[in-house]
Amino acid sequence: MSAPLVIGVDVGGTKILSGVVDREGTVLAQSLIESPGSSEEDVLQAIDATVADCLDERIGAIGFGVPANLERGTGRVLRATNLPFDDFDLAGHARARFGLPVGVENDANATTLAEWKLGAGRGASSLVMLTLGTGIGGGIVLDDRLYRGWAEIGHIVVQADGPPCQGNCHGRGHLEALASGTAADGAAQELWGEGADARVLVERARSGDEAACAWLDEIGGFVGAAIGSLANLFDPELFVIGGGFGIAAGALVLEPAQEAARREALAPADKRLRIVPAELGAEAGLVGAGLVGFEALDGAW
Ligand SMILES: [Zn+2]
Repeated sequence: MSAPLVIGVDVGGTKILSGVVDREGTVLAQSLIESPGSSEEDVLQAIDATVADCLDERIGAIGFGVPANLERGTGRVLRATNLPFDDFDLAGHARARFGLPVGVENDANATTLAEWKLGAGRGASSLVMLTLGTGIGGGIVLDDRLYRGWAEIGHIVVQADGPPCQGNCHGRGHLEALASGTAADGAAQELWGEGADARVLVERARSGDEAACAWLDEIGGFVGAAIGSLANLFDPELFVIGGGFGIAAGALVLEPAQEAARREALAPADKRLRIVPAELGAEAGLVGAGLVGFEALDGAW
């Protein structure tokens, strides 16, 4: 008989969050380490410590959500923008350390899995998710299956020759450079100086500040341009917007995004295209990592 619970590990650039997750996506216990350090050894130590914190006899597997490009089929971490992993076998490490089945998925793919199975995408057979946070992640569900490839929607070009992208990306005019929480921080600082950030931008837009509204309109326009192109590629039933900044901005970004997307999308997607907010909140990444753990438990890895 298989154990009923797994550990999900949401590996972020600035924090490692592990949690005990059941099949319904309920998080029963959590362990968090902020600022795990910047070497591979430090990050692994933080991961191992939070997993060990959550470990007991009910745990049957471990699932990871990692902000990195993975090798399809093996979950090997090829390259991460904000983590010191370079061609690293995280699954092999965790299997050897804890003696349990292990699954590893890109963090935005894991979040998409959670929103599709348990959140805003329940019952849909196709959707595309965008997470607007420090960076922009993406995930794609087509024909009732999560696409296991890169889905790096944040690195779609929405402005040729635009501003340089972030981290290890050498591209220009990518969605992430123009519509992420980091881009919103930059907009706020341009308007009100050093101390301002995306939160201030959203607050002031809500209280009617015209400059703030104009910036969020522009950000929504870039998101909509990407969504219109994605509609023309995949024609999914819906688009789900998550991530810390995406959720906080809500309709301030979703409405201009919908308008821009309908302008770019081919008929009949131009009329029926739907953009909805994510439902699982800040725990989506952890729950998604847990679902990847259940896949490992069920023998999918
Ligand atoms: Zn980029």
